[in-house]
Amino acid sequence: MSDRICDACGKPQAFIHYGGAMLCRTCDVDVKQAVAQARESGARNVSALAEARKIFRSQFSGGDIIVKDVPADLKAAAQGVAESAGLSLREFILSAMADKTKAR
Ligand SMILES: [Zn+2]
Repeated sequence: MSDRICDACGKPQAFIHYGGAMLCRTCDVDVKQAVAQARESGARNVSALAEARKIFRSQFSGGDIIVKDVPADLKAAAQGVAESAGLSLREFILSAMADKTKAR
C-alpha cells in the first residue's frame, strides 16, 4: 500500500502523478475530466492539484485541524521522517492518524 494520499479522495492509494497531484485510479479519471471541463470553459492555467482539492473539499473533507504550540523537537523529528519517506508533513500526519485509529 502506498503512503501517498490521493489529493481528490484522501485514500492512501495514490500511485498516479498528474499535473502536480497524486491520484488513485478512481480519481484520476474524475480529475482529468474536471481539468478538461475547466479548459473547455476557457479557464487558463488550470491546475490538476487545484481541481483535485476541489473534489476533496466538496466530497471528502472532514474540515481543518490547527494544532498550536507543537514542540519544536517533535515537529523537526516528524518533518525529518516525512521527508525521508518522500511525504509532505500533511501526508505524514494523516498517515499517523490513520495508523493510530485504523481508520483506513
Ligand atoms: Zn482518490
